Amino acid sequence: MRTHLRIGRLLGVPIGINIGVLLVSVLLAYTLAKVTLPSGAPGHMSSSYWFAGVLGVIGFMASLVAHELGHSYVAAKNNVAVSEITLWLFGGVAKLERDADDPGAEFRIALAGPAMSFVAAGFFLICVLLSHQIEISPVFELLLIWLFAMNMILGVSNLIPAFPLDGGRILRAWLWRRTGRRITATRTATLWGQILSGIFAALSLISMWRWSFLSGMWGLILAVFLFVASRVEWASARPDPTMLDWEVGPLGRQLPDPLNPASTVADLENAFANWPSAPLVPVLDHHGQVSSVVTYDVIRRVPPAQRKVVPLSSYLQPMWSLPRVHPSESINSVRSRLGNGRYWFALITDGNTSNSVLVSEDVDQVVDSATI
Ligand SMILES: [Zn+2]
Repeated sequence: MRTHLRIGRLLGVPIGINIGVLLVSVLLAYTLAKVTLPSGAPGHMSSSYWFAGVLGVIGFMASLVAHELGHSYVAAKNNVAVSEITLWLFGGVAKLERDADDPGAEFRIALAGPAMSFVAAGFFLICVLLSHQIEISPVFELLLIWLFAMNMILGVSNLIPAFPLDGGRILRAWLWRRTGRRITATRTATLWGQILSGIFAALSLISMWRWSFLSGMWGLILAVFLFVASRVEWASARPDPTMLDWEVGPLGRQLPDPLNPASTVADLENAFANWPSAPLVPVLDHHGQVSSVVTYDVIRRVPPAQRKVVPLSSYLQPMWSLPRVHPSESINSVRSRLGNGRYWFALITDGNTSNSVLVSEDVDQVVDSATI
């Protein structure tokens, strides 16, 4: 059964709402029309409270969408596609098709949502100030103040460093940048998410008992929701030692077609531009055999103006000088043989043919996922 409805598209992103949101909207409109607005601006007709209440719900939903559009816009700028924005009981979710490529992009995507909420809060604040100039009903002025406050709350509460809240993602991006290890950063950030939501749940329980049962109850539901979400993320980033037994073959990076013996440094530059993931390019000898390779640092050693004339021949590295690994060798064995923590690459070969190379970064990634 579909649990959410598509309501349209904004900036090319489909917007959906969870069916539960309809129920919350009714509750919210009711609370605004019957409690919040009459107690703040008494003495008006019931119909104007209801009209303002419905406007308030629309304004609040629009604020949630604005927050998510902030994430989506910056995600698209960083080459991460957004499949859908969905409004849930507790706010919105912009579903990204994949994780960001680097900590900087993750940081910017996470920060964009709260930033957008603060912009929206600023917008409503200006509306409040303008409403002093023109005569508007106190009910609507109060509604504008309420929308300002809701956007401030949205911005600030999302910055709490409890993964998967935006603040938790910012924390992960920061840890990822510091350590260079995304998976360990995810583990730490999601562990914090669980600890903070645990503390939040305890505070909510105390609140239920000592101060307000209803707001404590809402807090508790939110805390449980957050705890479960961070626990799921934490569990999916759990170390899996069996990964160390994987064969290295599938980790190999394909190599570009070999260059001919008369190629220049400019040709090498071209080859790397077409194969950015390749750590080296094979080079043919005069008998048409691949007997040597060239690495990327050659380009850096030759000034741009000379690259078209400088031949590759003086920078060739003989093929036999590269370390070799068999495709069925395990990650653990390769790691202990070729070293851990420094940059290297090795030819993947079964003794006869080879067109792929194992790079230490790819091995380190797996080792990160496998160990604590
Ligand atoms: Zn957000």
